[in-house]
Amino acid sequence: MQDKGRRRREVVADLKKILAEETNYRDGKVLSSMCTRPQPIAKKAHSMFLDSNLGDPGLFPGSRKLEQDVVHSLSELLNCEDGAGFVVSGGTEANLMALWAARNRASVSNPEVIVPESVHFSFDKVCNVLGIRLVYAGLDGDFRVNPQEVEDRITKHTVAIVSTAGTSELGVVDPIPKLSEIASVHGVHLHVDAALGGLVIPFLEPKLQTRLAFDFQLGGVKSLTVDPHKMGMSTIPAGAILFRDKRILECIKTITPYLSETTQFTFAGTRSGAPAVATWAVFESLGREGFKKTVKRCMALTAFLSKEIEAAGLRLVAEPTLNIVAFRTSSSKCTADHLKRKGWFVSYVPRLDCIRIVVMPHVLRRHAEAFLKDLKETAKSE
Ligand code: PLP
Repeated sequence: MQDKGRRRREVVADLKKILAEETNYRDGKVLSSMCTRPQPIAKKAHSMFLDSNLGDPGLFPGSRKLEQDVVHSLSELLNCEDGAGFVVSGGTEANLMALWAARNRASVSNPEVIVPESVHFSFDKVCNVLGIRLVYAGLDGDFRVNPQEVEDRITKHTVAIVSTAGTSELGVVDPIPKLSEIASVHGVHLHVDAALGGLVIPFLEPKLQTRLAFDFQLGGVKSLTVDPHKMGMSTIPAGAILFRDKRILECIKTITPYLSETTQFTFAGTRSGAPAVATWAVFESLGREGFKKTVKRCMALTAFLSKEIEAAGLRLVAEPTLNIVAFRTSSSKCTADHLKRKGWFVSYVPRLDCIRIVVMPHVLRRHAEAFLKDLKETAKSE
């Protein structure tokens, strides 16, 4: 910081220059991200509520009401009748809150959590912070966690089982109905990380929804993460944590001596109301019909891309379940590097030695066609 401030106009000019250099979603080159361009109404709502602090909700009762409306809408969508939850900063914080509550409720020594080998890396951080040991369960041939391995790993130290509805690498959904049964029999908290899938699966064809059952309709599911800043098309940072039974919040209650309310349940203290309000605005503006339309378009484009990739003689790692396509070439790492040089942002996944692309709403048919052209040229020249 300099001694003397600069003119506002100059500062804004600098910002505009920097903004112009940032990657944007508009040209459809970002195929590696689960985030997307927020809906215009989300940007508008976000900018209207920049002052709002949900850490001191007595001062911002309107924002708090809209946050709870979002929680209610998500709970209804995900078959939870009388739950509780919050809009938080994203999937990582939502997963943290789930395991924080589960650990405190179980109150055992040397706590452990059983996770699939495909679990998101946020659980490494979460378990490090909470002092929980991660116990991994292996996957089957379809990259879904093996329920028998999960059951075999339950001990008196187990505070939770984690499953994923839409893995980050392949978009796979674990066999959550079976895990729900196991969790119920053993009285263990089952958390579902549906950061991506939570706002995709409910908008798929009914037959697919039945095949991919993952939410509170399954009795063993006690908490669920879903991210409005991914397929919810809201502004960043917007994640959500939902609990089936609001009584579990007592396990993570903190006394707040000098604020407008005397207790707090979220991990973050000061937290912006803007993304919660933005999420509310998207839900109001699109409705379930709007989400269905967007998800249908992304899934159709996913099917188109995977068909064309196979037709080009490349191998898919798995048939896409959600809006993620993963494939291999004779040298996937080299192909990914070549594509990057052509301006495409794709992920190379070392664990599976594959390229992964996420078909989010900013990706249009013409972008997919341009990508396929570059991919075919690149793969041919290797
Ligand atoms: N869980 C899953 C399945 C994810 O895919 C992600 C992010 O991509 C996260 C958790 C972490 O979410 P965030 O980056 O919003 O903290």
